[in-house]
Amino acid sequence: MAGRLVGKVALITGAAGGIGRATAELFAREGAQLVLADLGSPQDSTADVLRLPLDVSSESQWEAVAEATRERFGRLDVLVNLAGIVDWPGIEGTTQADWDRVIAVNQTGTWLGMKAMLPLLRASGAGSIVNTSSVLGLIGSGAAAAYQASKGAVRLLTKTAAVEYATRGVRVNSVHPGVIATPMIQEILDEQGDQQPDIVRTPMRRAGQPHEVATLYLFLASDESSYVTGAEFVVDGGLTAH
Ligand code: NAD
Repeated sequence: MAGRLVGKVALITGAAGGIGRATAELFAREGAQLVLADLGSPQDSTADVLRLPLDVSSESQWEAVAEATRERFGRLDVLVNLAGIVDWPGIEGTTQADWDRVIAVNQTGTWLGMKAMLPLLRASGAGSIVNTSSVLGLIGSGAAAAYQASKGAVRLLTKTAAVEYATRGVRVNSVHPGVIATPMIQEILDEQGDQQPDIVRTPMRRAGQPHEVATLYLFLASDESSYVTGAEFVVDGGLTAH
């Protein structure tokens, strides 16, 4: 059977992270050519995988990534915005520097990515953007003030982009993971295990694995979701169902 992303070029940010790595591996298995971007020095690229350094909060770095993608592959069909950082303090405990950093990466970074890549995605004719919010972009937790604000913004930025580009060949959707076992929260999971309060509140009573989130990105990246835009998809073991 042909892969579900054969003929497509997909760019994934935060590609060295837990969900990013799982998504990149799945997309490669489904036949996509990949641009994998993250902080730091990238490993070697191959014929089908271009690895690039990118700080998503930098417009000039996004422009360089767009140019390198155009040069190498001549097209882009899918943008997966996965880069993100978390900061746990609430309203009074958050410093302005930490607030600015979280907003710059999670919120401004998502907008800059769409802005830089939309010319290529429009030219694709069947472009798909998948932005990463969180269950914390949907419901309050009483903590993580900057993170919650940034993820709430990603949710509505996604919807307005979906409306703006609905007849211009680009679909835009958001993914809202619950508790997923990745380096972002590994310390908490190591300390608290299944007694971690959000896992206790999760009806399935366990953390999700990165590959269980990657399959949702695959659906939204592929043409199987051709009538899906402006929608939000939770993958949370039932956490937001009650
Ligand atoms: P992770 O920490 O494993 O991966 C995040 C990646 O983003 C890392 O590789 C990191 O280097 C990269 N990154 C951070 N700042 C960057 C920047 N300025 N520019 C480019 N890359 C940058 O975490 P993860 O769990 O894989 O997170 C992926 C996404 O999923 C994030 O947006 C996160 O907010 C979201 N999310 C995660 C969970 C969870 O429980 N793990 C839950 C909800 C949402």
